[in-house]
Amino acid sequence: MTGICSENSSNEILAFDRKHLWHPYTSMINPLPVFEVESASGVRIKLRDGPELIDGMASWWSVIHGYSHPKLVAAIQEQAETLSHVMFGGLTHKPAVELGRKLVELTPEGLDRVFFCDSGSVAVEVAMKMALQYFHAKGRPEKCTFATVRSGYHGDTFHAMSVCDPVTGMHHIFSGVLPTYHFAPKPGCTFHGYWDADDMRPLKNLLEKHHDSLCALILEPIVQGAGGMRFYHANYLKEARRLCDTFDVLLIADEIATGFGRSGKMFGCEHSSVSPDILCLGKALTGGMLSLAATITTEHIATTISAGDPGVFMHGPTFMANPLACRVAIESIEVLLADNWQGTIGVIESGLQEGLEPCRDFSHVTDVRCLGAIGVVELVRPVEMGAIQRRFVDHGVWVRPFGRLVNLMPPYCIGKEDLALLCRAVVNVVAEES
Ligand SMILES: *Cc1c(COP(=O)(O)O)cnc(C)c1O
Repeated sequence: MTGICSENSSNEILAFDRKHLWHPYTSMINPLPVFEVESASGVRIKLRDGPELIDGMASWWSVIHGYSHPKLVAAIQEQAETLSHVMFGGLTHKPAVELGRKLVELTPEGLDRVFFCDSGSVAVEVAMKMALQYFHAKGRPEKCTFATVRSGYHGDTFHAMSVCDPVTGMHHIFSGVLPTYHFAPKPGCTFHGYWDADDMRPLKNLLEKHHDSLCALILEPIVQGAGGMRFYHANYLKEARRLCDTFDVLLIADEIATGFGRSGKMFGCEHSSVSPDILCLGKALTGGMLSLAATITTEHIATTISAGDPGVFMHGPTFMANPLACRVAIESIEVLLADNWQGTIGVIESGLQEGLEPCRDFSHVTDVRCLGAIGVVELVRPVEMGAIQRRFVDHGVWVRPFGRLVNLMPPYCIGKEDLALLCRAVVNVVAEES
């Protein structure tokens, strides 16, 4: 290709993409279809030479304020002109400090030592390393394994994979090289259902049996995301906190999907009024503008780690606390807090409930559930991703199901009418799946 005026045709772009670029979880022999995006604004994704789609995914939970939000765009532009990046070893800057201050204020009580990192999976790795170093520093190095529950998802890097559901967590082929940790069954009681104290028994037995070798229990608070899109009972998390205290096991809350209002509370932990020992944030932290994550812990854990051997916490990513990402994260939090976000999420929740309700009548649908700005339609059989994806696009929406699950987690700025259109498209496409 030569000449500054030659613009790739959409076909050329798609052909190169198909041949040379990996997409998430896809084949290079038989790739799923991809669509070229020209731009995106608000809740609409504009395809090249194609329609505008109403976005039902918020780009995997992250774009909570919609695309190209003017305040977030301005924040990045301004920041780029003064300081776009500088190493965090030996240097600091206002965006990191201001964001740290905001996160300490916003997150559950006691969490006040912030480690910035680059992505959700890395935030989980950092959390797991903190738990390991903590017990190492306490002279209990034998407490070096992890517990979790089935149906969870914590990321794609190696140690994060080891606590994902071995089946639904997408990583079963790596089981031979992953450490084997302790899995309790998935929580049985649903968020809106009755509480049965017996639901805790398997986790209690597990901690009772293995606490001498356990450093932490890692959970997604209330909402299990990519591992099954399940909403479990608030008492489960409350009891899990209590069990962790009883057995001297740290509680790691992976709020990478649930953070920043998605479940109806600022953080999922708030449904159960618990504070974890370590909290992981990512996804919506920057309003979806840049990759940034944070692992936040308590003064006690941070000082214990620092008092032990080797006297420091052993992690330090190149792009730690990137100023552009920190600055836009500050802006995203301000935009969220300036809105009546709880009211907004409540309106989305009712809109999802009402709009997805017709799916309940389909015999090939086993469940329809909503919590906060999350809607889930669970089918009897797995969908055929390539085909169903195209039908959603034909219906003017961007929805990406996986397995038996059709999920909606739209940007919070979606209006009532767009939400109704989005739900209608889901009802129509799901109807065709029978
Ligand atoms: C997405 C996700 C991760 C991994 O985050 P990445 O940024 O994709 O590495 C970890 N935990 C949960 C709960 C997630 O939803």
